[in-house]
Amino acid sequence: MTPFELLEPKSLQEAIGLLDPEDAAVRPIAGGTATLLMMKGGFLRPRRLVSLRRVEERYSRIEAGPEGELRIGALVTLSALERSAEARARVPVLAQALKTLANVRVRNVATVGGHLAHGDPHQDLPPVFVSLGARVVALGPKGERTIPVEELITGYYETVLGRNELIAGVVVPAQAGRRAVYVKCTTRSADDWPCLGVAVSMAADKSVVREASVAISAATERPVRLRAVESILRGAAVDDALLRRAGDAAVDEATLFADAQGSVAYKKQLLRVHIARAVRRALDTAGGSAH
Ligand SMILES: Cc1cc2nc3c(=O)[nH]c(=O)nc-3n(C[C@H](O)[C@H](O)[C@H](O)COP(=O)(O)OP(=O)(O)OC[C@H]3O[C@@H](n4cnc5c(N)ncnc54)[C@H](O)[C@@H]3O)c2cc1C
Repeated sequence: MTPFELLEPKSLQEAIGLLDPEDAAVRPIAGGTATLLMMKGGFLRPRRLVSLRRVEERYSRIEAGPEGELRIGALVTLSALERSAEARARVPVLAQALKTLANVRVRNVATVGGHLAHGDPHQDLPPVFVSLGARVVALGPKGERTIPVEELITGYYETVLGRNELIAGVVVPAQAGRRAVYVKCTTRSADDWPCLGVAVSMAADKSVVREASVAISAATERPVRLRAVESILRGAAVDDALLRRAGDAAVDEATLFADAQGSVAYKKQLLRVHIARAVRRALDTAGGSAH
């Protein structure tokens, strides 16, 4: 590993000032689980790492907002989010998805901000946040901006964040009455990286879907909404024929890629099966609470 400078600013604003918009070798680091692997693999040779671990405590909080939204600070660890009573009551799908994300050692250290900024298409939470309509709050030298998670990740390990812009937190809008699930398909062990992740959030009356938001990842280069599937589900009663149509529409709409987890043909079949499973499971799930 080549030598590098490690800085530990006491505030997020100070951290922003230590980043360099022109230099990709100056990087923020939070939990470090992804960054250190990239450094050990020789993909990343930083000149300076700006650690976020000593910034203000408020970025490690999980709170409910005035509109019933869930506010998650960027430095909240994945374990803290998994265990949070507030998150479990308001957005139960987060704890459900986190249970099989990597392993407890990774979850104890990895942060929500680092998870989203990393942009690895195989990550579990981005499609969940997309289906929930969540927004990232980003801070930069010019101030704050809000970015829908759907627009944050633009490609394979690529985001819209500037080099001197930091994720300060994520806001999940109130989910009262909505039902949401994350269905993860792994081809090796249960806690492995997914080969396909399907996140569904819906409003439904018995078996009739009023409105649904469907996002997939892992088999695609970035998390994507499947709008053709959403429009097939909208206003429809769920039965086998509807789910077959939804599965076919998903395969037509999504651009899948082959990797160590499986071929495109294999992932197409997985997608058909798991769209149907996710919709059925969402219908059977209790919704998040308002307060
Ligand atoms: C063994 C192992 C198994 C894993 N398995 C899974 C899995 O099954 N599913 C899954 O979803 N994930 C998995 N992961 C990935 C894991 O979720 C990510 O490594 C982790 O979430 C990254 O968070 P971090 O805080 O450690 O990020 P870091 O490593 O600190 O940073 C990651 C990236 O984000 C940037 N960054 C960090 N914080 C911020 C911020 N606040 N604002 C802007 N940029 C920031 C860094 O510069 C870097 O580019 C696995 C990781 C490991 C090591």
